Amino acid sequence: MRGLLEWQIATVKSIQQETPKAKTFTLVLPNWFQHKPGQHYDVRLTASDGYQAQRSYSIASEPERRGEIDLTVEWIEDGEVSSYMHEVLTVGDRIEVRGPIGGYFVWEANLGGPLLLIAGGSGIVPLMSMIRHRSAVGSTIPVRLLYSSRTPEDVIYYDELMKLQNSKGRLEIFHTFTRQTPPGWTGYSRRIDSQMLAEVAGPLGSKAQAYVCGPTLLVEAVANGLLQQGLAPNQIRTERFGPTAIS
Ligand SMILES: Cc1cc2nc3c(=O)[nH]c(=O)nc-3n(C[C@H](O)[C@H](O)[C@H](O)COP(=O)(O)OP(=O)(O)OC[C@H]3O[C@@H](n4cnc5c(N)ncnc54)[C@H](O)[C@@H]3O)c2cc1C
Repeated sequence: MRGLLEWQIATVKSIQQETPKAKTFTLVLPNWFQHKPGQHYDVRLTASDGYQAQRSYSIASEPERRGEIDLTVEWIEDGEVSSYMHEVLTVGDRIEVRGPIGGYFVWEANLGGPLLLIAGGSGIVPLMSMIRHRSAVGSTIPVRLLYSSRTPEDVIYYDELMKLQNSKGRLEIFHTFTRQTPPGWTGYSRRIDSQMLAEVAGPLGSKAQAYVCGPTLLVEAVANGLLQQGLAPNQIRTERFGPTAIS
């Protein structure tokens, strides 16, 4: 069997603008392998002079979708790989990828719950794969998602999250906005803090499994906060996306 760490050439099937700064790339893979929600792919770019740049991108789609994956990439000013994907890559282009990779930050419905998902910015991507998988297999495991964004227009997958929340039950979504709120907003409008964690995590009880993903500082602050709430270290899984400040 083909090794998961072998590079393959994916074809860009479609590109969707999710927010002003985030695009989803649907890639068709000649050697598709079923992933676990939370895993990622590596993307490698090679310039004509042989220079290579390689970055990791979480899989946004559910493993039940065969033959292709979605990667959602946030545009970063001067970012080598993200700006290439946003500004150069078009439908029909071919791009080198390998995966799925990662065995720690993963969740499948058969692992049970309840689930506490906490995202900052594009940290929603691997959590979305978990939420889509839960929906695809008809799981009713209780899930609470706390999603921190700078402004309402930065919320990725907003419509789909609303739909899943309304139609499936037991998926509850809490947004917090750190820079600008929607008109008339009565929800959270600050960085995630211990009071917010207590309010969102509390109703899930002491057995919750937490998955935290986003900028490094946010992940560290949230993981410490969850420990203070009484969760054991083995109930908290974290994934750090990059060296940015708390959003
Ligand atoms: C396991 C894993 C999964 C990831 N999944 C995703 C994903 O699903 N979607 C996604 O958009 N990104 C994801 N990332 C981040 C991604 O791998 C890159 O780090 C990011 O796209 C920046 O790469 P770049 O080449 O564009 O920028 P670079 O050229 O590497 O950096 C340019 C500048 O941006 C800063 N920077 C680097 N990374 C980030 C970041 N994440 N946020 C803000 N500033 C940054 C650098 O300090 C530098 O100043 C993931 C990272 C990991 C480790």
